[in-house]
Amino acid sequence: MKKLKVLTVLYYIIQWTWGLPQNLLGLLLTVIVRLSNKGGIHERYRNAVLTDWKKKGWSMGLGMFVFYGHRDCTTDVERMIRAHEYGHTIQSVVLGPLFLPVIGIPSLVWANLPYFRQFRAKKHYDYYRFYPEAWANKAGAWANRLGDFNPVSHSDGTYLA
Ligand SMILES: [Zn+2]
Repeated sequence: MKKLKVLTVLYYIIQWTWGLPQNLLGLLLTVIVRLSNKGGIHERYRNAVLTDWKKKGWSMGLGMFVFYGHRDCTTDVERMIRAHEYGHTIQSVVLGPLFLPVIGIPSLVWANLPYFRQFRAKKHYDYYRFYPEAWANKAGAWANRLGDFNPVSHSDGTYLA
């Protein structure tokens, strides 16, 4: 129990020093989303802050902030998506200032660029094979003690980093 608290304190210290750029962006986005979506879910998820941003099917992890778009899915799938996004918050701890160039930007491009969406659809290429996503799955599974998992990709590619 004591070890867990130490890890939690370290998580926040590292996020707000080493991982400052993405946390500032995440905080700003949280404030913007909260102002426009006052009734939406806004809760703690492990050490992160999870906010429903009403982008159905789209989720994103940015520093210690997770933006979650509800979808019609089972509780298990929802749990995996949350765990995946939490994995991105751990990448922020590990990579610090390198998070945005190494994970954030490649992941955003991979998720959104029509070229890559078409590529995934045509080749039946799993969204989660790309390194930022594969690593987020592993980190999220580790932090949530879920064992190995691979969230189900939607064929329309509506997954965001
Ligand atoms: Zn991701």
